[in-house]
Amino acid sequence: MIEAVLFDIDNTLILFDENAFFKAYMTRLTPKFLDVFTAETFQQRLIGATRALLNNQGRISNADYYLNHFSRDMEDLKPEFWSRFENFYTTEFDQLGTMAKTVKGTHDLLKTISERGIKLVAASNPLWPLSVQMIRLAWAGVDTLPYSWITHIENSAYCKPQPKYFREICQKIGLQPEHCLMVGNDPLNDMIAGETGMKTYLTTDSQIQGYTSFSLSTQIRSNSSQPLPVPDFKGPLTGVIDVI
Ligand SMILES: [Mg+2]
Repeated sequence: MIEAVLFDIDNTLILFDENAFFKAYMTRLTPKFLDVFTAETFQQRLIGATRALLNNQGRISNADYYLNHFSRDMEDLKPEFWSRFENFYTTEFDQLGTMAKTVKGTHDLLKTISERGIKLVAASNPLWPLSVQMIRLAWAGVDTLPYSWITHIENSAYCKPQPKYFREICQKIGLQPEHCLMVGNDPLNDMIAGETGMKTYLTTDSQIQGYTSFSLSTQIRSNSSQPLPVPDFKGPLTGVIDVI
């Protein structure tokens, strides 16, 4: 019996071209750091720190891991860098929402699941602070629902596609993986949850739109010699209700 449903956000609850989005994000964020770095150095540090973060093995939070990497050789500036990121996220990030489309029926689906007494978890890769996860849930029209857990950069110490990311969630919500369903669009990042014993549901809405996934995760996928995990279920987001 399913007692919790975990939802990915990007290209699961909202649909957009992740590469175009990342470019627009960089274009807006880079000027905030030009007094410290050249545009090229800033972007190399940001991408390098994000890529490194995917390897965090749980000893420190993702936020600390990310910031250690981003601020290397400049430790004194860590608090300054963090506040610049946070300031950008709380003041400007929301404007990128014009690039995101909603999936019809998302709010009703999550509300129905919650009303049945099943826990809701927002399980977007914890590369962002809570403020950004909430903004993206708002773009999907589901930010006011009662989540049992929302993974973000400060409360997580693993990233997808590490199975331990999903085990960490189970610990937080007090459920065995076998009683959880992971719903997401990514054949590796989300469907790897199956390795923990979770049931998995691969959403097809973004494929129908033809949107690409963010290149960092695509690169991990192409480096992997292992076959992709086989989802238990596959279909549109709104089909999740039929499974539970
Ligand atoms: Mg996704």
